[in-house]
Amino acid sequence: MQGVGFRPFVHGLATGLGLAGFVRNDSDSVFVEVEGAIDRVAKFSERLLSDLPPLAIVESVEIIDLAVSDDHGFVIVESRRGATASTLVPADVATCDDCLAEVGDPDDRRYRYPFTNCTNCGPRFTIITGLPYDRPATTMAGFTMCPACDREYHDPTNRRFHAQPNACPECGPCLTLVSTTTSMNGSHMGDAALLRAQQILAAGGIVAVKGVGGFHLACDARDPDTVRRLRSRKGRADKPFALLAPDVASVEQIARVGPAENAALHSRARPIVLLTRLTNAAVAHNVAPRSSLVGVMLPSTPLHQLLLHAPPGGGPFCDLLVMTSGNLTDEPIAVDNDEALERLGALADAMLLHDRAVHLPCDDSVVRCFRGAELPIRRSRGYAPLPVRLDAPVRPVLAVGGEVKATFSLANGHHAWVSQHVGDMGNLETIQAFERSVQRFRNVYATSPEVVACDAHPGYYSARWAAAEAARLGVPLVRVQHHHAHVASLLAEQTGATGVTGPIIGIAFDGTGYGPDGAIWGGEVLVADLATFRRAAHLRYVPLPGGDATITRPYRAALAHLHAAGIAWDDRLAPVAACSAVERAVLLRQFSTGFGCVASSSMGRLFDAVAALAGCSPVVTYEAQAAMELEALATAHGPEDGYRFDTGPDGIIDAAPVLAAAAADAIAGISAGRIAARFHDAVAEMIAGVASDVGAKTGLTTVGLTGGVFQNVVLSELAAARLEEAGFTVLVHRKVPPNDGGLSLGQAVIAGRG
Ligand code: ZN
Ligand code: ZN
Ligand code: FE
Repeated sequence: MQGVGFRPFVHGLATGLGLAGFVRNDSDSVFVEVEGAIDRVAKFSERLLSDLPPLAIVESVEIIDLAVSDDHGFVIVESRRGATASTLVPADVATCDDCLAEVGDPDDRRYRYPFTNCTNCGPRFTIITGLPYDRPATTMAGFTMCPACDREYHDPTNRRFHAQPNACPECGPCLTLVSTTTSMNGSHMGDAALLRAQQILAAGGIVAVKGVGGFHLACDARDPDTVRRLRSRKGRADKPFALLAPDVASVEQIARVGPAENAALHSRARPIVLLTRLTNAAVAHNVAPRSSLVGVMLPSTPLHQLLLHAPPGGGPFCDLLVMTSGNLTDEPIAVDNDEALERLGALADAMLLHDRAVHLPCDDSVVRCFRGAELPIRRSRGYAPLPVRLDAPVRPVLAVGGEVKATFSLANGHHAWVSQHVGDMGNLETIQAFERSVQRFRNVYATSPEVVACDAHPGYYSARWAAAEAARLGVPLVRVQHHHAHVASLLAEQTGATGVTGPIIGIAFDGTGYGPDGAIWGGEVLVADLATFRRAAHLRYVPLPGGDATITRPYRAALAHLHAAGIAWDDRLAPVAACSAVERAVLLRQFSTGFGCVASSSMGRLFDAVAALAGCSPVVTYEAQAAMELEALATAHGPEDGYRFDTGPDGIIDAAPVLAAAAADAIAGISAGRIAARFHDAVAEMIAGVASDVGAKTGLTTVGLTGGVFQNVVLSELAAARLEEAGFTVLVHRKVPPNDGGLSLGQAVIAGRG
């Protein structure tokens, strides 16, 4: 891995042991030659692996004996630019304690300098333009180091030896604050810009802040009026905003923080961690309306650290900020100063800019904690482009992912480089960002795909793009069934540790995926490996009214499921009451004729239906909102004996008894929490039952939980516990998200094999 201080570490180790030789970065490895007494060379080999610098990862070591060349001294020699460039690019890393100490020290030359970094921390992925990773191949190329920085850079004993983004207030990037409104005149530079931004935030203003991976919109998270203004400007009704908090102590004022959450908050990737909000949380209620979860991150850069702390000598500031992507809803994050002024000017009162380009846009990552470890929800800054190591090597392949939460994967040999979160492929800006990112990955990893993979859905933009790209490259296109890709992504990430090669029983539950029979799949139990899959069981098809209206209006999913189950549309049921008489008549005609309906086995829509029956929002404004509300209710309520699905010998899982029981509960006035808990229990019990049936027929003993539904940790826990009781080994996602953000990895390993 380049850019993690490996060469200075080797230099220090070799000179400490009195060994001669050199260390050099090649494009695909680090090459070290040492010469000296045999016991010292042995010691060197041992400590090379045991004393690694914090960010270094060694994948493999090859040792070759050489003839003695009678060298003296140990040197770091210039990088060689080779034909291949597969050396791992590091992800961006949160500021280290040493750098933070300097930023906080009035006597240090980097006091309050927002771009402070060293070999152990700072931006990497977002500033690298090519390999090998040296300053000319970064966005720091235009900043010439001052004599003091240059000395550090060339001193092997210094923490900044060969720290490519090394900078200081003399020579590095500089802040500018630009007003976007006439009421706040003028622009400020450097520390004055930072202080002015803090004043504006404290006065209830909205500031667009340029970070390392693009722009955020920031505002006071304790002031509901300010948060409301941000919501209306951004066009975002309910979707939770992420928060930036200075430390764990302040996070504990807002949400429950267990040991796993604490570790995730402090991890070098600094993701947004989804936490259970306290009822009396010291935060504006509308940062996450109708959600029991709140996403919080700790500062990942000195700029964020400085923004949250009192300026020297006092002055207004906010100690808790909303920090949401700098975009309009559904557009990609803005990266360019001019672009940001154009796109965010109307959203922000001021813009805190700097003069270092963002090479690759990179949103914040999002994780939840499940069974003491991270469950990725959005894998982006801090994780991308760290490769997933593949047990089974693949030929060069480009996999373009799905349509929402899109990522792509470029894989070759034992590495799959999964891209940062690109977004929803529904608008031109996202598509352009996707194309730029694909091109950059190809350049950085010098990989030319021999096959292109995409989803089997003919209507996905990504699939059409992939077809054109495959034709342009003259390589085959492989269309991968959606849920097979989900299961394959789970298999692909089980590297080394468990060594699962499949087949497994894959429980792939999500909202929507194209089925080969033209139906919308989403409640699938597959027997799958990387080569093939067989549909062993699935939710019974229910005709759903087509189009997006059913996704944003869970009450329609409820009416569809009630109708399919032969349950009357009783006015006492919340989803029935939420539907106008006119719409009911239209729906009834659709269901009886099948006109405008699509057969669907979607588990996501079943969650929507039950959420609506339990009295959750009949209309939602962001994806999976109803399911999240239902999970929150179940969490608050605690475990319950569940409803029961009816699974036939043919593997058709019928939800009708669940719907009937939930509707009866709702009419009987049973609490929403109890209905939610009983439903979660039902799904978990059904998973265990179906897995046992399939296991008995196939002899398989491993079950994988994948698909967007398994972002739900209540369900994941209930299902995993029951499966383990039944003797199964349970696989869950730890490296890529269970949602469509993980699809590209699955597509890559399927299309790239053999
Ligand atoms: Zn540092
Ligand atoms: Zn400098
Ligand atoms: Fe999916």
